[in-house]
Amino acid sequence: MGGIVDVKSAKGQFVARGYYNPQTDIAIRILTRDPEEAIDAEFVQKRVRHAVALRRVFREEQTNAYRLIHSEGDGLPGLVVDRFADILVMQIHTAGMEQLRPLLVAALLQETGVKGILLRNDSMARRREGLEVEEPVVVAGDVPEFVVIRENGVQFVVDPWQGQKTGFFLDQRDKREALRKYAYSKRVLNCFSYTGGFSLYAALTDAATRVTSVDISGPAIEASRKNFVLNGLDPDIYEFRIADVFAYLEDAVSQGERFDVVVLDPPAFAKTKEAKPNALKAYRRLNTLGMHVLRPGGILLTCSCSGVVSMDDLLGTLSLSAQRFGRPVQLLETYTHGVDHPINLAMPETAYLKSVFCCVGY
Ligand code: SAH
Repeated sequence: MGGIVDVKSAKGQFVARGYYNPQTDIAIRILTRDPEEAIDAEFVQKRVRHAVALRRVFREEQTNAYRLIHSEGDGLPGLVVDRFADILVMQIHTAGMEQLRPLLVAALLQETGVKGILLRNDSMARRREGLEVEEPVVVAGDVPEFVVIRENGVQFVVDPWQGQKTGFFLDQRDKREALRKYAYSKRVLNCFSYTGGFSLYAALTDAATRVTSVDISGPAIEASRKNFVLNGLDPDIYEFRIADVFAYLEDAVSQGERFDVVVLDPPAFAKTKEAKPNALKAYRRLNTLGMHVLRPGGILLTCSCSGVVSMDDLLGTLSLSAQRFGRPVQLLETYTHGVDHPINLAMPETAYLKSVFCCVGY
């Protein structure tokens, strides 16, 4: 289905070369603006080599897990590759990348020297491109059941086969690090905690720090407890709740619970433009609830990973939540992704993650 095409101006001048897929909304995904560049093994190798070089900023002994290929951000539209220690997890979302699959696997192996590559083509988003949803499959070497990774010196067990998305949310690394300075000896609530990313960074700041982790997924909470053990902490000292965050927060508000720091990192509430108005309402409700369980002067870290919700949208909903709550909110820090998630300036939509630290009330 589809194939490589050249885009030309009305006057017949070369504009770009890309992959044409008649079955999807984005008909042509641009691969190169260079008329001399063919879409072949050399092209793939060059893109992968550049991506690998860009990630040399990480010191292996501190951080050995990062996004290696971030789709359009790395000039390979529809390809996501995450590195977890010595394996790669790869996801293909476009027909164009499907065609390049063997070349990609070969280049990734050669440029990284990893022990195995797992292909997880199990995302429903593939259907929008006319692609089949597949079971995870090893496409090179060996991939174990679990992998232990290091992120800023914190260890996590990753389940590359069945974990959500590729197994771990690497896009929050810098926000987890930024959280540390607010968490020391504090009472922290981590909502949508998954395998305990923010929770562990907070708990490791100091023995007096108290952390509550809330997630609807039983396996995710189970994995968080294991991650606490892995880092030398006793999970029984901390609180873990398998619950719907909205219900948990409503309960906490009615019981007068107060935290010093609240983290809200929900899944994408909107995947399409049509879903945006309802998503904004959900963010507003969530943030209002989050503000209610903060002590005056507490720190709120709130995030949105919905591509259709911009930073301005998120700040707008925060501002409305603050009005509703009747307290001033001071904006402290704003973030997008870490450096391993480059944003293609020609495609600002690739900047899907927005994270904001603020101080709520006096
Ligand atoms: N903060 C996490 C990533 C969050 S991903 C990290 O740093 O790794 C979103 C999480 O929200 C998933 O773990 C999912 O299980 C959970 N989730 C989705 N809907 C939920 C709900 N209504 N209540 C609680 N958790 C929910």
